[in-house]
Amino acid sequence: MAEKTLFGGIEAGGTKFVCAVGSDPNHIVDEIRFPTTAPIKTIQQVCDFFAPHLNQLHGIGLGSFGPVDVDPASSTYGYITTTPKPYWGNTNILGMLRKKLNLPIAMDLDVVTAGLGEAKWGASMGFDPSLYLTIGTGIGGGYIVNGKPLRGLVSLEMGHIHIPHDLNLDPFQGTCPYHGDCFEGLASGPAIQARLGQRAETLSDNDPFWDVEAGYIAYALVNYILTLAPRKIILGGGIMQKDFMFEKIRARVKALLNKYLNHPALIDHMDGYIVPPALGNRAGVLGAIALIMNSDQ
Ligand SMILES: [Zn+2]
Repeated sequence: MAEKTLFGGIEAGGTKFVCAVGSDPNHIVDEIRFPTTAPIKTIQQVCDFFAPHLNQLHGIGLGSFGPVDVDPASSTYGYITTTPKPYWGNTNILGMLRKKLNLPIAMDLDVVTAGLGEAKWGASMGFDPSLYLTIGTGIGGGYIVNGKPLRGLVSLEMGHIHIPHDLNLDPFQGTCPYHGDCFEGLASGPAIQARLGQRAETLSDNDPFWDVEAGYIAYALVNYILTLAPRKIILGGGIMQKDFMFEKIRARVKALLNKYLNHPALIDHMDGYIVPPALGNRAGVLGAIALIMNSDQ
């Protein structure tokens, strides 16, 4: 039997799946991307990809779109739970993969695995604790401390914190079905579209709304900095494809902190503190590989 030196990674996204076999960003021996369809067909495609590699694999990491149940003590552990995505609600994705592949498989939310990958090989390598925040269709965060995602009573839901909302500046009520104008309800891609009647990516770079958006993101980051003190903050997701947003956000964070925290990273080196991801379009799948490499399974 071949020596087991490789790991598998699965990025299970709402629109596409990425699977890879490898051991680090410079050693990816096989890779595939395909659109997300119904669960049974999609999972079969995953299994077909891994089939020729099974003898070489230590295990597989899975970073999934959410919401997912990541509590091993729960009866629905490994399920995609209440997603509005057709056919995927209440899907035991982890169980189906384990049964078909018969390998150790570790699973977490995609934003958590992306944070792990960046911490292991990317923009937050050597910076612990670190925070990875995605701002796109939804808003979520992965907080990596001592090389592992922070878990508590429940999984972190960093997109649903409340932040100041000036109704004179922005009378929009927010899109979150649970909280209305929480961070995600105000600043996600769908919130921008509902408010302005056009998709965020089609909005002009000069549109004044980008300053409002940067303000919301900055409020959230200041709260995370004050409570979690990450040594590096990575901002990913569709909204952050607008490169100019980084400078706006850094300036607002600096102004909001107002030199209260006397650390050079927050006063003189904000450009190296709040940064884009470094692993590009392999961030998700590399993060999934990092998850299984770090796992006890
Ligand atoms: Zn909310």
